[in-house]
Amino acid sequence: MNFVINNEGKNIHNLAKEIFFINRSITGKGVRDTLKIIKKILPKLNLYEIKSGSKVFDWTIPLEWNVSDAYLISPQGQKILDFKKNNLHLVGYSIPINQTVSFDKLKKHLHFKKDFPDAIPYVTSYYKKNWGFCISYKEYKKLKKGNYKVVIKSSLKKGSLTYADLLIKGKSRKEILLTSYTCHPSMANNEVSGICLLTYLAKYLSKQKKLRYSYRIVFHPETIGAITYISKNFKKLKQTIAGYVLSCVGDNKDFSLVKSKTDDCLSNRVAENILKNSYPNFKKYEFIESGSDERRYCGPNINLPVASVLRTKYGCYKEYHTSKDDLNFISPKGFQGSYEVYIKIISVIEKNYFYRLKTKCEPNLGKRDLYPIISKWPDLKAEKKIYNLMHFILYADGKLDLVQIAEKLNISAYELINVVDSLTNKKLLQKKSVNL
Ligand SMILES: [Zn+2]
Repeated sequence: MNFVINNEGKNIHNLAKEIFFINRSITGKGVRDTLKIIKKILPKLNLYEIKSGSKVFDWTIPLEWNVSDAYLISPQGQKILDFKKNNLHLVGYSIPINQTVSFDKLKKHLHFKKDFPDAIPYVTSYYKKNWGFCISYKEYKKLKKGNYKVVIKSSLKKGSLTYADLLIKGKSRKEILLTSYTCHPSMANNEVSGICLLTYLAKYLSKQKKLRYSYRIVFHPETIGAITYISKNFKKLKQTIAGYVLSCVGDNKDFSLVKSKTDDCLSNRVAENILKNSYPNFKKYEFIESGSDERRYCGPNINLPVASVLRTKYGCYKEYHTSKDDLNFISPKGFQGSYEVYIKIISVIEKNYFYRLKTKCEPNLGKRDLYPIISKWPDLKAEKKIYNLMHFILYADGKLDLVQIAEKLNISAYELINVVDSLTNKKLLQKKSVNL
């Protein structure tokens, strides 16, 4: 099966615009509202609720947090730091409060970034009862002494943590895991981009008729959500032969790879081979530099082969976790490029077998119309397919898989797919599954 790469960048970007303003956290209405919008695109998506207080491995599902309003009234009577204007103004999981406090007391609950004075930072306090507001340093400096009215209309009640999954069945029970997280308020690259790209990849995969592998699509809040998902689904997840956490995939800068803990796993090999050969400016990070849900999926006593292919890695751009990671930071072009990379990765995983030529020694390609009649050594640029074919056959004796052969040839395994297809059509090739 050959994957066609559609133009979806604009649709993915539109979805990002639609869900950007929702107030997400690790629990609450914002997560459900986000998933309901995704369900319109992926009707078979299953939503699950795990009650507050439930044990998940070493953790406990917290109380559910919801907010209807939050703001300050300044000594001059102005409404400032309005949650309804930008939900980043409120520290995540802030307790309800309706109090007048002095500026000195208020100061202890204000968060800003001196080194990025235009940006409102993103701050949460999930596991310690607290309240706070986030403000740009520029605005902070304008605040006057005096009494401020603090209003936070939030609730922390027994409720549940919400996650969603979708299993797209292929021929094999072996699974590819694709996951993203759904817990950040209004920030585009980290994290809305991951949710949106995953939705459109899942839509694409759902329409494919002859998938070799099954695809597990998972949306959950970061950290506690991943831990919850793994604890509830560990037996099924053991079918995972490769997986990726989708995050920071909407900007149009160079790609990054955060490697899975197991060095030679398929996720690492395929992603690195494609990025290295087709996107040579990509940055490679070892597993030790991971910071998102790769940590949980590759966690102690879990060890699933999960890596992450991103654009600019979380924590490595100035706008990260601030109000400046907004809809201007991501673009249809950025999404389209990321979509392409993931489709290429999936295509290679689907085609990764040990290939073995049925002939002894080099087959006669000319009589099968696989080699030009006028014989000359092919020019790499003009006749890349022939050049690749000539080299592929040298290694096609069942000892190396497709990615390993691509590594020998210093090319992306994606470029070998049409070679494999041509040889298969001419009944020259046998294939054997890679045991994973
Ligand atoms: Zn984040």
